[in-house]
Amino acid sequence: MASMRIAVVGGGINGVMSAWALARRHHRVDLYESGDLMGATSSASTKLIHGGLRYLEHGEFRLVREALRERTFWTSAAPHLVRPIEIIVPLYKNSRRSRWIMQAGLVLYDLLAGKAKLGSHRWFDRSQMIQHCPELNADNLLGGFLFFDAQMDDRALGLWAAEHAAKDGVQFHSRTMVNTVSANGEIQLQDDAKNYDAVVNVAGPWAETLLDRSGIQHDHGLDLVRGSHLLLAREAKHGFLVEVPDEERFCFILPYQGKTLVGTTEVRQSLSDPIACSPAERSYLLAVHNRYIRESANEQQILQTFAGLRPLILSSANQSRATREYAIEIRGRVVSVFGGKWTTSRALGEKVAGTVERMLRKAGNAT
Ligand SMILES: Cc1cc2nc3c(=O)[nH]c(=O)nc-3n(C[C@H](O)[C@H](O)[C@H](O)COP(=O)(O)OP(=O)(O)OC[C@H]3O[C@@H](n4cnc5c(N)ncnc54)[C@H](O)[C@@H]3O)c2cc1C
Repeated sequence: MASMRIAVVGGGINGVMSAWALARRHHRVDLYESGDLMGATSSASTKLIHGGLRYLEHGEFRLVREALRERTFWTSAAPHLVRPIEIIVPLYKNSRRSRWIMQAGLVLYDLLAGKAKLGSHRWFDRSQMIQHCPELNADNLLGGFLFFDAQMDDRALGLWAAEHAAKDGVQFHSRTMVNTVSANGEIQLQDDAKNYDAVVNVAGPWAETLLDRSGIQHDHGLDLVRGSHLLLAREAKHGFLVEVPDEERFCFILPYQGKTLVGTTEVRQSLSDPIACSPAERSYLLAVHNRYIRESANEQQILQTFAGLRPLILSSANQSRATREYAIEIRGRVVSVFGGKWTTSRALGEKVAGTVERMLRKAGNAT
C-alpha cells in the first residue's frame, strides 16, 4: 500500500517492534516516548526470552507456542545479546507439583517448541541433582528437571532493535509526552498538535489511561501487577525455577551478568503508586532465595532492586481473569495494544502493522 504517516506512542519493546514493522512496510513512522527508550517495563523484566512454562498451567497454549517460535527469532537475530540458558526445577517431598505433572508440562513445552526446541528436558535423580547443583538445599530433595530457555539483556536488546528500526526510517522522539490522541488521527503534544493517517497506542501499562484521558472507548482493560527483582552481589552457578513455599506461584533464581537475579513478585497496584520494590518484596525474595540456596544471602548483598508493571489484559467479557495474552483494538484511526510479553514483541509488531494497513484500507487511506 502507499506510504502513510503513522505515530506510535510508547518506546518500550512493543512500541519499537510495531514501529519497525511499519517502517519495513515503507510507512513514515514517528515514535513518541515520554521518557527514555526501554526506560519502563521493558528493562524491568526477568530477562528471559521464553515460552513461559508456567503459563501452561493456565491453558495459554497459543501464547506459549508463539513465544517458543519467537525465541528462535531473537536467538538467531541477536546471538550476542540472547543466549540459551539451562533452568533447573528442583522437586522436594513437599513440592506442590508432582514429578509426573512437571514431566507432562515439559513434554508439552518441548512439543509446542517443535523445531524451535533448544534441547530436550531431562530428569536428574537426587544424587545426580546434588552432584550437578551442590549449592542447592538438599533436605527432602527428590531430584529435578532440567530444561532450556534463553536469556537476554533486555535494555541492550531493545536498543539494538531500536537502532535497526531507525536504520529503516523510524524517527524517534524521546522525552516527548503524548497528552491525548484522537480517533481522527491527531495527537496532542505539550505545545503542538500533529496529524497522522494512523496512531498506534503501545503505551504498555499506560495504554488504557491514554485512551481514558483522550475520551476514547475501549473493550479491554488492564490489570496492573507489579513484579520486583533483586540483583545479588554473588555469582549464581545455575538457573532455577522454584516453587514459592506455601504458594502456587514460582520464582526464578538466575545467573545474570556474573551476579544472581531473583524474581519476581505479584503486587496489584495503580499507576499513581510508585513502581518500586517495597521492603516487604525484598524480604520475600530473599526468603525464597535462602529456602533453596544453601549459602544464605543477606540484605547487604542486594546490589540493586528493580520493578515493572505487567500489563495483563482483562476483556469486558471476563473481568475476573487477567491473561498474559495480548489484544489489539481499533477506534477510528487509533489502534491500541493491550498486554504483550517481551518475547512475543516481534509477532505483535507484525500484527499491529497488518491491523493498521487493514484499518487504513477500510478508512479510505490518508487523512
Ligand atoms: C516483573 C516483570 C517480569 C517480566 N519478565 C518477562 C520475561 O522474562 N520475558 C518476557 O518475555 N516478558 C516479561 N515480562 C513482560 C514484558 O516485560 C512486558 O510485557 C513488556 O516489556 C511490555 O512492553 P511495552 O512496550 O508494552 O511496555 P513498556 O516497556 O512499559 O513501554 C511503554 C512505554 O510507553 C511510554 N509511555 C506511556 N505513556 C506515554 C505517553 N502518553 N506518551 C509517550 N510515551 C508514553 C512509557 O514511558 C513506556 O516507556 C515481564 C514483566 C514484568 C513486569
